[in-house]
Amino acid sequence: MIITMVFRVFDSLFPHVCLLCDQRCETNSNIDLCGYCRDALPWIRRACHRCGEPLPMDTTDARVCLTCAANPPPFDRTIAPLRLESYPRHWVHRLKYGGGLAEGRLLGTLLADHLISTYASEELPDYLVPVPLRWLRLAVRGHNQAVIIALPIKRALHIPLLRTAMIRKGHVASQQQLSRRARLNNLSRAFVARREFSGETIAVVDDVMTTGATAAAVASALLAAGAGSVHIWCPTRTLLS
Ligand SMILES: [Zn+2]
Ligand SMILES: [Zn+2]
Repeated sequence: MIITMVFRVFDSLFPHVCLLCDQRCETNSNIDLCGYCRDALPWIRRACHRCGEPLPMDTTDARVCLTCAANPPPFDRTIAPLRLESYPRHWVHRLKYGGGLAEGRLLGTLLADHLISTYASEELPDYLVPVPLRWLRLAVRGHNQAVIIALPIKRALHIPLLRTAMIRKGHVASQQQLSRRARLNNLSRAFVARREFSGETIAVVDDVMTTGATAAAVASALLAAGAGSVHIWCPTRTLLS
C-alpha cells in the first residue's frame, strides 16, 4: 500500500514522457510512447499465421498466404507485427550498430505487449531461443540484439530464455549471390542446437524477419534436436511483395 503510494507520487513528479512527441504517457503504460504515437507506428494489421507476410484485407478468412499453403515452412507460426520502416527501422539500426539498448528494450516491450494479446487464446511456447550471432560478430558488437529483444518478453510472459541453446558456426559461404535454395542449404549447416528437446514448442526470437531463410534454418535445427514445434517472434518484418 505504502509502496504503491510512493510509486504514484514518483510518477506524478517524474511522468513518463513519449520518446517521439514529448507528451505525457499513460501512467500504467510500460512503454515510453504515448497512445497516439504507438498507434501511428507501421503495424501490419492482418498477416499470414505461418510466415507473417501481410494478407490482403479483402481475403475472406484465409489464415495463411498462398506461398505457405503451397510450400509450408518448417516453423508453424510467425509474429512480426511492425513493418521495417520509419521509427522501427531506425530503432533496429540503432540496436544493431549504435549500441542502442534502450531501442532494443522498446522493440522487445512492444513485441511482448503484442504477444500477450495474440496468445490470449493460444498456448504459449515452452522456451525462448534467441537467434545466435557468430562469436566474432558478438565480440565486435558486444551484445546479441536477439537477446536484448528477448529479455522483456521473458519478463512479461514468464517463459524461460535459453541463451546458449544454439550456436552459429563461423565457416559458411557468404549468403549474397546465392539462390534461395542454395541459401537455405548453406544456412541449414550454420545453426546447431547444443541440447536435446522432447517435443516442446520453441519461440525463436530475432530483430527482423526478412526472407524467412534464417528462421527456416534455425527451426530445422531445433526440430532435428527434438523440438515439437517452432514459432518465430520478431518485432519487425521486411515485406517480400
Ligand atoms: Zn507521442
Ligand atoms: Zn505465409
